[in-house]
Amino acid sequence: MREIVIAGNWKMYKGLNEVLEFCAEIRAQLKGKELCGVLPILAPAYPFLAIMMKELEGTGVQIAAQNVSNHNEGAYTGEVSSAMLASLSIPYCIVGHSERRAYHSESDEIIREKIMALLTEEIKPILCIGENLDQRNKGETQRVIMEQLEGCLRNVTLYSPSDMMIAYEPIWAIGTGRTASGEQAQEVHRMIRKWLAIRYTDELADGIKILYGGSVKPENLERLLKMPDLDGGLIGGASLKADKYLKMIEIALDQVAGRNS
Ligand code: PEP
Repeated sequence: MREIVIAGNWKMYKGLNEVLEFCAEIRAQLKGKELCGVLPILAPAYPFLAIMMKELEGTGVQIAAQNVSNHNEGAYTGEVSSAMLASLSIPYCIVGHSERRAYHSESDEIIREKIMALLTEEIKPILCIGENLDQRNKGETQRVIMEQLEGCLRNVTLYSPSDMMIAYEPIWAIGTGRTASGEQAQEVHRMIRKWLAIRYTDELADGIKILYGGSVKPENLERLLKMPDLDGGLIGGASLKADKYLKMIEIALDQVAGRNS
């Protein structure tokens, strides 16, 4: 059975004091707690990666970077390499978020290079893909998703389902308060899994975790998690408040308990 992932993408929010306060709340609630079948992840801004690794030790929360350079090293002012993330033992990194595609002109090819750089360092990419509203309204969702998968994963070798995760994030649902219905998400998640089975193997397609992102919050998480191909959320706004983030972990734990009963 695939784990349920509750991944918070903090984007460019929170300074040091807020980060420390959040970590203290997480520690108080999660330290020593069994998180069977649930994998919580948080992606803070770069300056706080190492601090959060330390602050959240023993809580089960894993740390992700929000971005990485497609270059290995060199004169790239402001960039951070996969080797640098590896030197901090960062286990996950988001790539291809629609905000990076839109505001930093990241193409599928650049995202592919980032995935290669991360895999070389044994960091697991969380690859974001998704269509915009116009594309959905024109019935182009499948074409867009397939093109993004083809482009971002061309010549990318995956040995195990745990090598990476995919996050389906319809752009029209990110930060808009408008969530995809469970059925809309499921349809795309199924499509992604089928593509992975053809491109890789049935085993990889069955085991890889496919997250949904787009205005996920405690109020809608339960119904989304009922979808068979949906393995958790990549969550922006609602992950910024410790009580909401913890509530979503509880909902995921209940879901796992329900499956096992
Ligand atoms: C995101 O940042 O990936 C995201 C899905 O944001 P939100 O949950 O705020 O829509």
